[in-house]
Amino acid sequence: MRRFRWSLREQRLREALVEIGARLYARGLVSANDGNLSIRLDADRILITPRGKNKGRLRPEDMVVLDMAGHVLQFGSGRAEPSSEWPMHIEAYRQRSDIEAVLHAHPPFTVALTVAGVPFPSEVLPEVVMTVGKVPTARLALPSSEDDALAIRDWIRDHQAVLLPHHGVVTVGQTLEEAWVILERIEYTAKVYLLSRMLGEARPLPPEFLAALSTTG
Ligand SMILES: [Zn+2]
Repeated sequence: MRRFRWSLREQRLREALVEIGARLYARGLVSANDGNLSIRLDADRILITPRGKNKGRLRPEDMVVLDMAGHVLQFGSGRAEPSSEWPMHIEAYRQRSDIEAVLHAHPPFTVALTVAGVPFPSEVLPEVVMTVGKVPTARLALPSSEDDALAIRDWIRDHQAVLLPHHGVVTVGQTLEEAWVILERIEYTAKVYLLSRMLGEARPLPPEFLAALSTTG
């Protein structure tokens, strides 16, 4: 039987990162070595994906353990460094004691919205109104920098997702699965929105319908 250096719980969290990473890559929500995922290990530590590795081929032992100041407590397999986007992940956990997971991806339809300067259409699909809500766009910031972390600070406090212009999206959740669902919904919405604009007008839901949704949600 294979023995691990970590607990059963930690093993499950590492496997969850592997699984969601594989989904991100298989669904085309990241390309090349892009994107990064993290999950809270306990009050003082997170597990984060390693720098420069394809998300479709991660292994549980590749994950890096960080403290909440971003110091490496344990490197990934082969002394793998943490994702260069670690400041953004730490920032999200600092701002949100209620979240357990952070996802960052480069979904093409969503990124296209930001390149075109189009705000996220949060009022065109009922499921988005009910489960995701408004998705703000942060200011332009250098990827993989402290500035990226600062750019999301004010937004991530009150939202489940923030768009990073010309770059990607960050989503948070009480589980990795929840952060994944939000990411997938955002990309699906951006795709439907683009297709509707190609066909004609992209119409928001009527105000009375939105009001009814807010009472059922
Ligand atoms: Zn990125």
